[in-house]
Amino acid sequence: MTTLTLSLTLALVASLGLCAWLFVACQRARAAAAAPPPRPAEPDQFKALTDALFQTAAANLDAGIVVVDPSRHVRYLNPQADALLASDQSLSGLSLIALLRDHQADALVAEVLHDGGPRELALKPISSGRTLRLRCTALATGAQITGAMLLINDITQLSMLERARRDLVANVSHELRTPLASLKLLLETVQSAPPPEVAQRMLGQMAHEIDAITQLVDELHELAQIESGRVTLKLAPLPIRPVVERALERIRPQADRKQLVIQAEFAEAATIALMDEGRIGQVLLNLLHNAVKFTGAGGSIVIRTALLDRHAGEPTPTGPWLTVSVSDTGVGIPTQDLPRIFERFYKVDRARTRHAGGTGLGLAIAKHLVEGHGGRLWVDSAEGQGSTFSFTLPVA
Ligand code: ADP
Repeated sequence: MTTLTLSLTLALVASLGLCAWLFVACQRARAAAAAPPPRPAEPDQFKALTDALFQTAAANLDAGIVVVDPSRHVRYLNPQADALLASDQSLSGLSLIALLRDHQADALVAEVLHDGGPRELALKPISSGRTLRLRCTALATGAQITGAMLLINDITQLSMLERARRDLVANVSHELRTPLASLKLLLETVQSAPPPEVAQRMLGQMAHEIDAITQLVDELHELAQIESGRVTLKLAPLPIRPVVERALERIRPQADRKQLVIQAEFAEAATIALMDEGRIGQVLLNLLHNAVKFTGAGGSIVIRTALLDRHAGEPTPTGPWLTVSVSDTGVGIPTQDLPRIFERFYKVDRARTRHAGGTGLGLAIAKHLVEGHGGRLWVDSAEGQGSTFSFTLPVA
């Protein structure tokens, strides 16, 4: 996108330069020829042409353009700049500071107007919440600086990706540091030749920490595979019931250990959905695993299936969709955490989760898998009142 913008800008500048050169060349040729006298309409026509060229190019450019005079008053602003800066003020007599509402950016333009050197900076207007890159270049007539042009690009997506990359590195090191520190301590204790039963217990704990690291590495690898599109879903029209029942049987031993009542209710037992049964089994198991983990002894877990003709917020039906939901009577999720629950590494309460185990990657993987089927995964929950995770699959 940046390359495109740069090319467009270069093309714009080159076109304007060419036009200016043509204009000067025409003027000179006309002066040299002396006769016949120039037709008076021509320069106006030419100016109209360059104006039209500038307006068209500026209006079709991906970037916002703002042109200011030496006193930093806005002389031109294309619609893209208007939208990017969310300016709701009238252009006439507007000072740059009033438009940008950023002293640093205003000072930068003043420097460009002073010495003619191009400069750039990142801008985060509070009104739009976006990240903008602002490049400022002097406009000069001969040696005299007659104004400045600001080229504004929306780099929100790019900076979010950059932040995600930094967060990933920070999160992975954080997740690894804790089990590695435990391993070191346990190892040192075993090396100090404790009584055999203590050594045995420590070895068990070491195996547990190694399992946690292995799970983290496996899930990270899996997420990377899914996100890079290297996981292909083997979609086939299949009944949901056997998939749910298999997941139930696999989770039952853990549920029994915590004396949790776990059951399934099929509204449409014979519903056939388009799915990769292995992957949907994995999603279900992940949701059930969380339900068991975050529900206290004596609680209950129910899996329900239903038919839906549209997702929440959809104005027209896009279904029918098969909905599968996993409800628990557990700890629930605080309202402020709900929007972030599907982010990689997000855990509601790190201290609690550390004790319970888990990487914070399970829901991110589940969401990708469901969306790969064309469906959605969402949660309804209230702290202390349990949670319901639901996902949809296209009915075959
Ligand atoms: P984890 O491996 O930590 O379980 P997930 O991505 O599966 O990672 O879940 C992210 C976080 O969402 C959990 O750490 C927990 O805080 C919260 N969460 C997930 N499922 C539930 C649930 N059924 N009840 C309460 N909290 C949940």
